[in-house]
Amino acid sequence: MKALQYRTIGAAPEVVTVPDPEPGPGQVLLKVTAAGVCHSDIAVMSWPAENFPYDLPLTLGHEGVGTVAALGAGVSGVREGDAVAVYGPWGCGTCAKCAQGKENYCLRADALGIRPPGLGAPGAIAEYLLVDDPRHLVPLDGLDPVTAVPLTDAGLTPYHAIKRSLPKLVPGSTAVVIGTGGLGHVAIQLLRALTPARVIALDVSEDKLRLAKEVGAHEVVVSDAGAAAAVRALTGGLGAEAVFDFVGAEPTVRTAGAVAAVEADVTIVGIGGAALPVGFGTLPFEVSVSAPYWGSRGELIEVLGLARAGAVSVHTETYSLDEAPLAYERLHAGKINGRAVILP
Ligand code: NAD
Ligand code: ZN
Ligand code: ZN
Repeated sequence: MKALQYRTIGAAPEVVTVPDPEPGPGQVLLKVTAAGVCHSDIAVMSWPAENFPYDLPLTLGHEGVGTVAALGAGVSGVREGDAVAVYGPWGCGTCAKCAQGKENYCLRADALGIRPPGLGAPGAIAEYLLVDDPRHLVPLDGLDPVTAVPLTDAGLTPYHAIKRSLPKLVPGSTAVVIGTGGLGHVAIQLLRALTPARVIALDVSEDKLRLAKEVGAHEVVVSDAGAAAAVRALTGGLGAEAVFDFVGAEPTVRTAGAVAAVEADVTIVGIGGAALPVGFGTLPFEVSVSAPYWGSRGELIEVLGLARAGAVSVHTETYSLDEAPLAYERLHAGKINGRAVILP
């Protein structure tokens, strides 16, 4: 089969032919119908050889949907032909976190060498994907594969982040979304669907800000040195009750801290590597800063439910598998509006 692989540190990913995978006991083989392109892969491909955590070559793609093509011995609960989305943050399935469906926070995944598809295990940007257990599959139940596939990360990750802050997003409150790309443009829609908060979106690109408005941001602000003052002015000087940073770089975490209201939640989702220090007097009183990872299986089921109800519509650009390297180039250059989706 064809697959998109990251093969050499620092080089662009390549479309190659690899052996067709076959499901072992307990595994499910999917014919991939759509796979998403996430900025995290760009970060992975920028890591130096000394601390690169995965084996190469690595088939990319941690957002996947497909149809069940074959079942390994002993698999029950899914049937050939079922259309399913893949819950990506695989865990052991039995520890205290996994027991709550929070396999993203599995206590034993590292020790057992369990990795998500595309982030250690062979990923979804290929004709076929091996899924280690049917519990990682959620029925699509009528959702379109192209617009559903980004929900498995670009939807699930902001959903989890926003859900934690729902008690603070009461009528009259403000939520700030920094970086309105793949994750951010879904976050705006989730905030509008789940909360009465006023949503202020920040980005460096006029195209992205246009999309932010289109998908429901009340206000948009150019993310520059004056952004924090502009957000403060829009909130009568008080700041925002919840700030979601989908960049996580030095200037954006600074802005995130500077627009936080007293008792705000600042959630750093972007893996730009910057830190926001917390200590008495550094931020307004009782601001909570956190950096969550992905979301739970139950939350993925909820996000797909929201999409089925029409509350979220992901903007996508589609590419064939042969064009997948181009999708990464365009993402790296900041040219993708919404999410790039590969159709293998
Ligand atoms: P993306 O490239 O689609 O979107 C990023 C957006 O940020 C773009 O619109 C870009 O114009 C904007 N941006 C860049 N610099 C900015 C600045 N200084 N101020 C404001 N906006 C700026 O990326 P994505 O796939 O949506 O991913 C977003 C981030 O989230 C990445 O860092 C990714 O690695 C990370 N991520 C984290 C998790 C997690 O579990 N924590 C999960 C998925 C993605
Ligand atoms: Zn991702
Ligand atoms: Zn576990």
